[in-house]
Amino acid sequence: MSTQTVSPSLLHYVQYPAQPLAERVWVGVKRHAVSLMLDEREVYTFDPTGRLWMTYVDGVNYKRGLDGRMVCKWATPDGARRLRRLNSEEADSILRWTHQMAIQALNLFPSDGDPVCRDALERACQWDVEAHHRDAQRFLQAYKPVSILPPDQYLALVLQVTEGCHWNRCTFCDFYRDRRFAIKTPQQLREHIARVQEYFGDTLRLRNRIFLADANALVAPQRMLVPLLEMIHEAFPIEPNDLSPSDLQQWREQHPVRLRGMYSFVDAFTGYRKSVAEWRELQQLGIRRVYIGVETGCEELLRFLRKPQTNAEVLQLVGALKEAGIAVGVIILLGAGGHSYTRQHAAETSALLNQMPWSAGDILYFSELIEPFAGEYTHLAQEAGIQPLSPEQMHEQRREIEALLRLPRGVQRATYDIREFVY
Ligand code: SF4
Repeated sequence: MSTQTVSPSLLHYVQYPAQPLAERVWVGVKRHAVSLMLDEREVYTFDPTGRLWMTYVDGVNYKRGLDGRMVCKWATPDGARRLRRLNSEEADSILRWTHQMAIQALNLFPSDGDPVCRDALERACQWDVEAHHRDAQRFLQAYKPVSILPPDQYLALVLQVTEGCHWNRCTFCDFYRDRRFAIKTPQQLREHIARVQEYFGDTLRLRNRIFLADANALVAPQRMLVPLLEMIHEAFPIEPNDLSPSDLQQWREQHPVRLRGMYSFVDAFTGYRKSVAEWRELQQLGIRRVYIGVETGCEELLRFLRKPQTNAEVLQLVGALKEAGIAVGVIILLGAGGHSYTRQHAAETSALLNQMPWSAGDILYFSELIEPFAGEYTHLAQEAGIQPLSPEQMHEQRREIEALLRLPRGVQRATYDIREFVY
């Protein structure tokens, strides 16, 4: 057995022989997570309360959301990525298995082992299947389902300032079809914040920023939005963005638990109506990056997708955001319009992207059209005789778009796989 404190991120670890469970068991405690590893063939990661977060067993990665949903990912022998959502029986069997492994590892834990590691393992053992179910129920009392976030926001603290999507008619998107659009009143937001704070408790410190949900929270008129954002500031320590480096350092020392600004989606067909002065006001209230589902630069294809925006509106919105000092995350929908639009989509999208005033800190996302998730789109595409692109053809489409781009350094390009998302 060995035990010691090794680094700021890995606070404690212990490893010990644990037959017949494993040749060696390793337990590591970080500030944000606890890991249990069995012979490097199985890894279980818990949050500091002991709630299961991720598991790696037999070459498959499982990730659990706070609402109990679970996705798994693996690679085929030829290296292709595969991914799917588990049904509730499958998710329960992963929880059960994990719980058994944690109990066995605790039973074999050496009597003189690191007490911090023992405590962490004991906490994980308190989370059986029923405890996870109860926790998911608690989560759903604080939240409407969190349908999707941008990939760089998975660790954000979500606040549902609005619910649903005010448009809700794009053919390829059914994220919010289960709810009506509503802007929370100050009283409703106050209650939501209180439930969110109660749900997260101490684990709030694991969240690094705030994401204003749902689909387009910033569509709310300024006179309604500003008081809601001010209320969020009263409830959470959000890092100011107008301090000198030394004042910021001092502020950070006074706020060991803090959130680095606010982030949100906005749609171009209403977002373009906000003025630069209004965006600047939101920037001063902590909005750091706004994500826009641009999808394509081909307006004919946009009409087929039933997304009612124009390229002029997209450019006006991006220009106003950048002028106000807010970064953008632009999302392009690969495969939209299948073979019928493939050339037009690539050419007109890259042309539109090249007209945007990009700068360091912006992100360009490529998201593949996932037909089983695509609701009405699949049906309408079949009716129109549109043949879908294969995953390889979507990769090729991305390469085509990227080959035509002239973006400055510091703009990140990334993949946005909506199937991976659990909150
Ligand atoms: S793509 Fe965006 S605007 Fe369109 S329905 Fe979905 S959430 Fe609403």
